[in-house]
Formats: sequence, structure tokens, C-alpha cells
Amino acid sequence: MKLGSGKQVKYIFVTGGVVSSLGKGIASASIGLILKKRGLSVNLQKFDPYINVDPGTMNPFQHGEVFVLDDGAETDLDLGHYERFLDESLSRDNNLTSGQIYDAVISKERRGDYLGGTVQVIPHITNEIKDRIKKVSRRNGDVDVVITEIGGTVGDIEGLPFLESIRQMGLECGPQNTLYIHLTLVPYIESAGEVKTKPTQHSVKELREIGIQPNIILCRTALPLTNAIKEKIGLFCNVSPEAVIQAIDVESIYEVPLLFHQEGLDELIVKHLFLECQKPALSSWERIVAKIKNPKHQVKIGIVGKYTHLKDAYKSIIEAFTHAGVENDSRVELKWIDSEEISDKTAGKHLGEVNGILVPGGFGERGIEGKIEAIRYVRENKIPFLGICLGMQCAVIEFSRNVCELKGANSSEFDKKTQNPVIDLLPEQKEVTDLGGTMRLGAYTCVLEKGSLAFKAYGKQKISERHRHRYEFNNQYRDILTRGGLRLSGLFPDKDLVEIVELSDHPFFVGVQFHPELKSRPTGAHPLFRELVRASLDYRTSREKKTLLENEEMTKV
Ligand code: GLN
Repeated sequence: MKLGSGKQVKYIFVTGGVVSSLGKGIASASIGLILKKRGLSVNLQKFDPYINVDPGTMNPFQHGEVFVLDDGAETDLDLGHYERFLDESLSRDNNLTSGQIYDAVISKERRGDYLGGTVQVIPHITNEIKDRIKKVSRRNGDVDVVITEIGGTVGDIEGLPFLESIRQMGLECGPQNTLYIHLTLVPYIESAGEVKTKPTQHSVKELREIGIQPNIILCRTALPLTNAIKEKIGLFCNVSPEAVIQAIDVESIYEVPLLFHQEGLDELIVKHLFLECQKPALSSWERIVAKIKNPKHQVKIGIVGKYTHLKDAYKSIIEAFTHAGVENDSRVELKWIDSEEISDKTAGKHLGEVNGILVPGGFGERGIEGKIEAIRYVRENKIPFLGICLGMQCAVIEFSRNVCELKGANSSEFDKKTQNPVIDLLPEQKEVTDLGGTMRLGAYTCVLEKGSLAFKAYGKQKISERHRHRYEFNNQYRDILTRGGLRLSGLFPDKDLVEIVELSDHPFFVGVQFHPELKSRPTGAHPLFRELVRASLDYRTSREKKTLLENEEMTKV
């Protein structure tokens, strides 16, 4: 049963202790999913305590992927997990940083809103934070539960204003309307042969010092936790042993909600918050997890990029392949290929064993020539290909150089003086000098050409996809490239921009200026990823048949 408007919204706060990277984002998303499957309306929000206004200006080594929302917000990659688990599109209110909070407070101070008062962390910053939490609770007036994740680890100085704010929320809203979940690590110490609870004890102690008593402790662990361990953690952390929940390492992140449910986490939450709702309907999610773990087929896709050792930079792409695997009943093995290693001589060695390739987005010149070589190889050898953003731009450059014989064709991002800038800035962009938030960002409509590969994949003509780039296909080269055989199958009509290029004489060769991976969901794979995997499975089967025939021929001789 819905709580309905006018009733008290319930708040769940998720904090993390001991170390980062324990999976707080996935834990929050999983809790959101189970509550949604219980018929509740959930909103998920993340606070990042760093000073940057958003992660848009950070490099992937610092931050991993920048997840772009429909409204153009450049957000933390956890927002990707939130959208994928909830199967809902979120907005810029769902991810906030210290930078944004301080920016808002300083603007108000300059306007004189504080009427001559001294502006301080408490109450001005904390009030701003609380207002942002309450704001997401008002979305469409339909929210039953808001889950707010506090980025970073308890003990970080920059996280204190956020923790103080959620402490105050508990006081304001009352214990029956607020719930604190703390995620910690219970490490296994090999030499002692046992798991250790001390880091959890310390991290909870730290939380309690600032006035927050967690109601539930989620313990990330490699081994199952015995009752004795749960009792010990409960005793030291001032919770009942039933509120100590094991978050054991799993093969697939999509298993986490199922395991949390088995551990009784949602039952605890529902009881504590007096939520009236049904039992969770998890069978469709169980089917997805079963498909991920036991697929019938297998296919190998090469990803030719420059951050191949940094998987967080390609988080949504990896997930999109998992979803495409579910719909093709196939395991998708990813082979990471460093584009700097690829030349015309080595392309065969690196790409010979894959059944399809993807060239992802990126910025800067490093590794570009390798990507272009990889694309030439897959175009000539008719290996299925999907190019995303920079990958699409490289496909246009490759086609211009090697098919249309446009000498030195390039993007003006990499060669300012190129005689053939087939990828270029639009005239109105040439004056922009700020880096933050000045790209083409967020959702844009794209109209597909009937009969094209893209049209067949989407099954409709009008689509909306998310963007994050500065450079565009240069319309001056439209005629010459289409005459050469490049099909411009998707356009943004308002500005007459090319969004999709493809080849007709190839089983699957598609380049897109947008980021399809951002809209793929476990409950509905993105059509282009689904079709790339399908084409790659076909390619694999035909190649195996060919080898079989060749071997038979050999034995006849
Ligand atoms: N660097 C390219 C641009 O700015 C591509 C960006 C991307 O791949 N996200 O247009």
C-alpha cells in the first residue's frame, strides 16, 4: 500500500566505514530495488563530500566514469547503479557535492539572504543539505522512502557536515521515520584464520561519537558470518544480532538484493520504519540473475580504449554488456585492448580472436591512431563494431582517410591544422573557454532513417539518447562521405547534427555520437548493445563453420 501524499516520508541514510569501495552504491541501490519490489515508491540520492561542483572536470583515474543524466547533470557512477536497479531516470537533485552546497550557500550570502548573520557550517551548510534531502522526498508527491547515501568513509573531515545533517534529520523526523545503515568491512586475516570485527567496532564508535547510532550494520565479508560473530558485532556496536547483516562477496552485483532479502534486511527496514507494504516480488529479478550466471552461449568482445586497466572508467559499458548477454542468453567475455598497442601490423594479433569490438568514448589524442587502425581492421574484415562518441568520431576519420581518400582527415581536437576536419567544433562553440559543464550534455532527440541498422535495432524512428562531448560530425563532409558509402542513419533535427553513422555492406558497423550505455538496464538491454552481441554471436558461428569446412577440405587433400 502506498503511503500517499501528506503522510510522513521515511528516510534511510547509508554511511560507510573502514575503507572505501565496499559497494555502498550497490548496497543503496539494492535496498531501493527491494523496497520498490514491495510496492513502495523510492528515491535514491548521493552526497559526495568533495569540493568539485561535479565530477565532470575530474579525470577517470580520480573518479572513474562520469554518469550523465537526461537533464545533463554529470554525476557519480553510483547514479548509474541507482538507475539500473530502480529502472528509473534520475535528475541532478539526486547527486550533490560539497562544491554545490557551498556554491549555493555563498550565492545566498552574496544576495544578502542571511540578513547580516555570520554564515556557518551549522546551521547554514547543514540546513542547505537537509533542504536538498527534503527536496527529493517531494518528487511528484509520490515518494514513500528516500535513501540517501553519504559518499566517502566515516572519519573523513569533509564528510562531517553531511553526517551532522543526517543526525539532525533523525531528531527532526523521529526514530520511526529515519533509519541509519552503516556498511563496514569484516576482513578475513589469513594468518589468524579468522574474520576480524575490530574495524567495524571502531567505525561504529566514530559514528556514535558524532551522535549517530546505526540501526543496521551491513558487513562486507568474504566468508559467511557465524552467529557468534554477529552477536559480538551487535554487542560492541549496540545493535541486536539480527540487525547485523552479512553482505558477502558475490559473482554478480545483481545478486546483492536477493541476498539482502534472504538475510532479512528488508523485513528489518519495513518493521523499523512502520512501512505498510507487500512482500517483495523478486521472481523477475531472480530470472535475470539466473541468466547472468548460467547462459547458454559465449561470445568475446574486444574493447579498444585507453583506460583498459581502469575498469571503473567503463562501468556502464561493462554493465550494458551484462544486460545484452541476458537478452542473448550469452556470457559476454570482454577482452581489454590498449589502443596504443594497435598498429596496422599488430591489429590482426590483437583483434583476430574477438567476435566483435567496441571503441568507447574518450578525450585527448593519446591512443587515437590505434583506435583508427582497429576500426579499419574490423571494417575490412567485417567484424561487428560499435563506436561510442569518440569511437564514432574515429570511425568517421578512418572512413574519410581510407575509403574517401581525404588526406590527413582528423578531428580538430587532435590536429588543429588538419586540412580535412571531418570532426570539428560548431562555430558557436569556438569562443567557449570554461571546461566544466560546457559540453553538449544530456538527452537529445534523434530521428532514425527507416531501414537502417539503427532503426531495426530500436524498432522505432524517434529516440532519445544522452550526450557528453564537444566535437561534432562536420556537415561540410556529408556529401563526400555518403557518396563513399557511409550511411548517416540518425540525425538531431533541430540543429541538423549527425548522431549515427553506419555501413550498409557490413553485418554490423554502427557509430553513435551519444552514449547508449547510460540507458541500458538489466530489465531491458540497450538495443545497440543487444544487436552488437547478437551480430558477434552470428560472426562467431559463421567463423567456426568456416574453420570446420577448411579442416574438412584439408583432410580430403
Ligand atoms: N573528445 C570527444 C569530444 O569531445 C569525444 C567525447 C566522448 O567520447 N565522450 O567530442
